[in-house]
Amino acid sequence: MPAGKDLGGGRRGASTSKKNAFCSFCRKSYRDVGPLVEGPGDVYICGECIELCQSILEQEQRRRGGTKPLFNRIPTPREIVAQLDQYVIGQTHTKKVLSVAVHNHYKRLTLGNEGDCEIEKSNILLIGPTGSGKTLLARTLARVLNVPFAIGDATTLTEAGYVGEDVENLLLKLLHAADFDLEQAQRGVLYIDEIDKIGKTSHNVSITRDVSGEGVQQALLKMLEGTVANVPPQGGRKHPEQQYIQMDTTNILFIVGGTFAGIEDIVRKRLGKKTLGFGQVSGQRNQDDLAEVLTKVQTEDILAYGMIPELVGRMPVISSLTPLDHAGLVRVLTEPKNALLRQYKTLFEMEECSLEFSEKAIEAIAGKALAKGTGARGLRSVVEDVMVDIMYELPEQPKGSKYVIDDQIVLGKRHLFPTQEVVSKSA
Ligand code: ADP
Repeated sequence: MPAGKDLGGGRRGASTSKKNAFCSFCRKSYRDVGPLVEGPGDVYICGECIELCQSILEQEQRRRGGTKPLFNRIPTPREIVAQLDQYVIGQTHTKKVLSVAVHNHYKRLTLGNEGDCEIEKSNILLIGPTGSGKTLLARTLARVLNVPFAIGDATTLTEAGYVGEDVENLLLKLLHAADFDLEQAQRGVLYIDEIDKIGKTSHNVSITRDVSGEGVQQALLKMLEGTVANVPPQGGRKHPEQQYIQMDTTNILFIVGGTFAGIEDIVRKRLGKKTLGFGQVSGQRNQDDLAEVLTKVQTEDILAYGMIPELVGRMPVISSLTPLDHAGLVRVLTEPKNALLRQYKTLFEMEECSLEFSEKAIEAIAGKALAKGTGARGLRSVVEDVMVDIMYELPEQPKGSKYVIDDQIVLGKRHLFPTQEVVSKSA
């Protein structure tokens, strides 16, 4: 007998599976929406409508409760940096710049419209090579502040009318991240990646969107300045019959990032530094020099790169991140709270085994990742490559074992398990 078959009979709150019942709210039938909850007198409600009612009630409660203060207390820049330090290695200067900008931003929000001196918001532009921690910084900031956070990609955007996404879809992501709580979303952090790819010069590498990047920059500009945007709740392109959610972007903190590959040449040219003879210096010196040049990036270099002045003007805080060197990559592997190697150790503990990486192994992993040239991003694929066979075998290995991964294993010269061989074992 199917569950709930004779639970009907007007018993309040029981589920029904009467095949011909339908939801009294949306009129959809049992067949379409699954189990219904039965109320007294042939009244039913489906799961979808219950969820909808729940969110309506929650919104109403929030509305009555007035706008909650965003924070009890805004963390000081030093506190913000201390939190960032737990997850992000290096990038000391950028952390400082970000913490001050963010602190002021949220102070400005709590101040509201009081006072004569209105504090303008400081959207932030982060410049730095792939895998140097731009996204990680933005994400960690949002976590520290406990505000909604979303990531968008500028290259997917096109000017209204062309194939691609409208900029409003970025706002939709933030709305999703805030569970459609408009108030929260309007105070969130939106990270927009690959902003350099919509420059209007020859640096533009996108061939799928041959439309000038300028239109997209203009659309972004409005959003960064603060506007009431019409966000299509279902996403996709806008069309006239659609209902929109009106979202005010004035208090959203925009963090915009890009690699700006080749911008160092523009900076060097401005500084009158010679770029010749670079092939002869060692890789490390080359990197040090790049890091130093990147710290000197100014607005005019970004303009020369093809960003429109109005947009750059809306990002008064500019900070550049330095590429992570070998030592930096070693630290990324081991130091952050959720460091990659710690994650694997936890996985081993779940199998009642323990795992160590020898110092040489860690150096070998960092070396392999460095060769990929994708910064810390390369670490994950190197480690996964090493660990996939091991994780495959692990559940069948004796419990209570202790394993050490050394550089030989990382370099693929030896296996860990005896299907393969066990390195060290203490039962
Ligand atoms: P991008 O600069 O390209 O936005 P991400 O922030 O997405 O780089 O970095 C990719 C991954 O590399 C992150 O998820 C993180 O695990 C790691 N990572 C990058 N930079 C750092 C850093 N400075 N400290 C710790 N981890 C980092």
